[in-house]
Order: sequence, then C-alpha cells, then structure tokens
Amino acid sequence: MTTQFNSFASMLTALPTDSACREYLEMKRWNGTSVCPHCGLVDANHYKLNVKGEFRGMYKCKSCKQRFTVTLGTMFEGSPISLRKWFIATYIFASHKKGISSHQLARDLGVTQKTAWFMLHRLRSAFTDNNEGQLGGGGNIVEADTTIVGGKVKNMSNKKRKEIFDRKRGSWDNKTHVAGMIERNGNIRFDVIDANETEGAIVKKHVDTNSLLMTDTAGTLRVIGKEFLYHGTVDHSKNEYVKEAIIHTNTIEGAFSMFDRMVVGTYHSITPKHMQAYCNELGFRYNSRKITDKVRFDMALVQTEGVKLNYNTLIAK
Ligand SMILES: [Zn+2]
Repeated sequence: MTTQFNSFASMLTALPTDSACREYLEMKRWNGTSVCPHCGLVDANHYKLNVKGEFRGMYKCKSCKQRFTVTLGTMFEGSPISLRKWFIATYIFASHKKGISSHQLARDLGVTQKTAWFMLHRLRSAFTDNNEGQLGGGGNIVEADTTIVGGKVKNMSNKKRKEIFDRKRGSWDNKTHVAGMIERNGNIRFDVIDANETEGAIVKKHVDTNSLLMTDTAGTLRVIGKEFLYHGTVDHSKNEYVKEAIIHTNTIEGAFSMFDRMVVGTYHSITPKHMQAYCNELGFRYNSRKITDKVRFDMALVQTEGVKLNYNTLIAK
C-alpha cells in the first residue's frame, strides 16, 4: 500500500477503498502493531476474525479475548458513514483555512446536512487544541484581549433563534465574549468568558506570570497584571496603539479578525453553547499553521481517541 500523499487528490488515489483507509488508520494509531483497547495488550498476532467471509479489521485480543477494531474509541466508532467518507471530511476540515460549513460538506460528501453537521462536531473535537499548559513564560511577550462574537440572528433557523432567545431580556442572546491570548511568534488560545468569570481570571489561568503581558486598560487586567513580570497597556480610547515598539495588542487583534472571517464567512451563526468548540478549532488551525495539511490530517486521525460525541448530547440544551 502506498501511503505517500501530500494533497487531497493524491490522498484519494492512495486510499481508494474503506479497507485502505482502515489499514492507514491502523498504521497511524498502532504504528504497525495492533493494540487491544480493552486490556492494552500490544501484539502483532491478535486474532483476525473474518466477517462475511473476509477480514474487515475485526480483531480478537490474544489475552482478554474481547473483540476490537481500530475505530473503537475514535470519532469514527459506530458511525454509519463509511471510513473513506470520514477521511475525505477529515482532510477537507484539516486543510480549509476557514473551516467548512455543514451545508457545503453535505454536498461534497453526498450526505444529509444533519449528518454533516454531526460529523463536523466530532471533527471539531478531534481537532481540538488540548488547552494544556500555559502560554508564555521565560520572559516572553503575551498579548491578551477580548472580542465579542456571535452569528447574525437573521441567518439562524427558527429552531436556533428559539434556542438563544433570552426571555428575561426579551431579545436574542447571540453574542459571546471570547478572551484571546497569544504568545508572540508562538501559540494562541481562545476561551469563552462565562458569566461567572472575568477576563483577568482567564488570562491568569492561561498565561504564565513569568511573561511580559500586553493588554488594553480593562480593570480586571490591571489587577492581575501586577502579578506578571511586566504589564504593558495601550489605551485605545486615547488613540494609543503602539508604545515603545513592543507595547501593543495588534497580534491578537489580527487573530480576532481571522475569527470573524471564519464565523461570518463559513459558519454564519454559532450559538453560545458551541462557541468553545469553534474557539478550539481555530486555535488548533492557528497553532498548527506551520505544518502541512497532510501532517495536520494525520494529527487529527490520531487525536481521535475518546471522541464519541453523540447526536443527543450535541442537540441537548
Ligand atoms: Zn485485550
């Protein structure tokens, strides 16, 4: 099996069937030696079981005797969608800089919009940046700022409008405050600011205090700013944008405009409930910007472990 591909077109040629995709996934997840997900035994000689007269990736563990396939515990588990369609969706998702809408993916794959929507949520979980560890440290510069994102109500379905209607206020609650933090020349992180959180608390959570912090003059940032190595502020209301060459928040503001383009251009309307998942998607895209689409695709395949969102969880209020 040739698995040398570096584009969408060559992936389609290199992996022409479901079984080719399965073998590729086995190679990526197991590194050539099958692993029983039940007891963890790594063994090249787990029993191979035939289904309907042929081997289709069903193994039986040599030790615990339980059955498994390479998709068990991944976003592909239990899906009626063929593995090859999943691979196509994964590649598209991994390579499109601004993501892809469920309507477009549905047309590309020949599945219903509801199915595509569900696949995208699973993909989004697989592409998630783990949000582990802090940004900055070592005296590096980290910029932090907040933006307000939300889809236009006019683009939302009636069902979605109903979901976000705030009875107390008598209007739609379609705006979400998102904190963004970026280490210059490094990684980014977006975190939805919940009602009981402050921007300052979020920055403290994600940024190592051994950093040079650059922000605007928001009050909660002034408070936590004192704990950092240095806190530089620009006051946009006084037309301050760059001070002493390094005090500015231009990098994070640039990232926010990327966020806006993704929301406006691709997804149109994101309800507050799903906003963090989109934040993670954009974070992953940004942080993996220097690697190729193929490597990003491979990363998504192996990051699928444990992604088993089911439809009912996603649509539950
Ligand atoms: Zn086992």
